[in-house]
Amino acid sequence: MWLLMTKQQPMIEANNPSLKSWIHVKADSDFPIQNLPFGVFKKGDDSPKVASIIGDQVINLHVLLQEGFFEGIELPLDVFDQNSLNPFITTGKKMTNAVRGRLSELLRLENQELQTNNHLKEKVFIPVSEVEMLLPVKVGDYTDFYSSEQHAFNVGSMFRDPENALLPNWKHMPVGYHGRACSIVVSGTDILRPKGQTKSKEQTSPVFGPTKRLDFELEMAFIVGKSTTLGESVGTDQAEEFIFGFTLFNDWSARDIQTWEYVPLGPFLAKNFASSMSPWVVTIEAMEPFRVSGPKQEPEVLEYLSYSGDAHFDVKLEVYIEPEGEKKTKITSSNYRNVYWNIRQQLAHHTVNGCNINVGDLYASGTISGKDSNSFGSMLELSWNGTRALSLEGESQRLFVEDGDTVTVRGFGEREGVRIGFGEVTNKILKAK
Ligand code: MN
Repeated sequence: MWLLMTKQQPMIEANNPSLKSWIHVKADSDFPIQNLPFGVFKKGDDSPKVASIIGDQVINLHVLLQEGFFEGIELPLDVFDQNSLNPFITTGKKMTNAVRGRLSELLRLENQELQTNNHLKEKVFIPVSEVEMLLPVKVGDYTDFYSSEQHAFNVGSMFRDPENALLPNWKHMPVGYHGRACSIVVSGTDILRPKGQTKSKEQTSPVFGPTKRLDFELEMAFIVGKSTTLGESVGTDQAEEFIFGFTLFNDWSARDIQTWEYVPLGPFLAKNFASSMSPWVVTIEAMEPFRVSGPKQEPEVLEYLSYSGDAHFDVKLEVYIEPEGEKKTKITSSNYRNVYWNIRQQLAHHTVNGCNINVGDLYASGTISGKDSNSFGSMLELSWNGTRALSLEGESQRLFVEDGDTVTVRGFGEREGVRIGFGEVTNKILKAK
């Protein structure tokens, strides 16, 4: 009994569903007092600053630190006077959790420290509509996995054969590839339709031009919070100590370029023209209430990939398409729990050969598709390789993403009346240069 009780993690006080804030938060907000994610904003000509958010109010953490509100937490004085979260994340989980905990205290209904200081409140809180949100982390390296079984099955069925949809290695390791870090952009950035080589089955030689099959990929990503040195491996049991938090992720893809180029070395120009992420990093600690068990893994995985406990997360995911001048249509509803391989296995696999990881590295899940056809995570699957048009509200139909379309990914967990959201990653497609 005693052993059982000690295995249970105590609740993180900042996650307590009964907490209320003196800042007004709408019921459908992604950012109640229980969330307190981290991001980087810029207001006018001021230099970028690290922030959190509650409701629709951005919280300038640099001002709070300068004014002594984080006394007792040994932070470098310029840690929030930065254009990325990397220096803050580098201080370690003890510090970052202490900051989230202290923020939670300051924002509680019964706490007067900040609530009654009108002069300071004006400097600390800024409506989110008045700031520009920047890319939250300096991403050194970016890896994209392929961890949803339904997605891998769908793609394998379309491109190869439904009988042998999953390649022989798929259930033995979290398959992935190294992506391009420097073309990761923040939500709100316009995406240029990429050009490249394509060759359809009917064509005898390749042609060059704008992609005709531009696609989104509905993904989640985690951000590394602690570095390792070359030669070191991270086991599944320690993996979460190396994870700072999560964002929404859209791994933009050009399917016709991909089909022609991907053999034998995998994705290249079909993917590296842009990927986009949401501006707020939700800490793994804030996601604690949404842990769920994963699927039974059959065949049994090798020892270094085995794990115990709940390492999947129940996060509802949605994608919307809004053609220029038309209504927004929700085109899919999936869930982060629809992944076969979890974050512990992904990190353990990535480092098992001694590959080092660094603060700010980004690991994306791969497209997250559910079982039903209205829960698929890409146009490739929703339109079944361009054979079934999707009807949008109004007149439009879509096989793939068109110029002028705005694609928005949203995500949130909901439990005991508390909604922990990720905000959104939204981008408009511009016609090719
Ligand atoms: Mn992907």
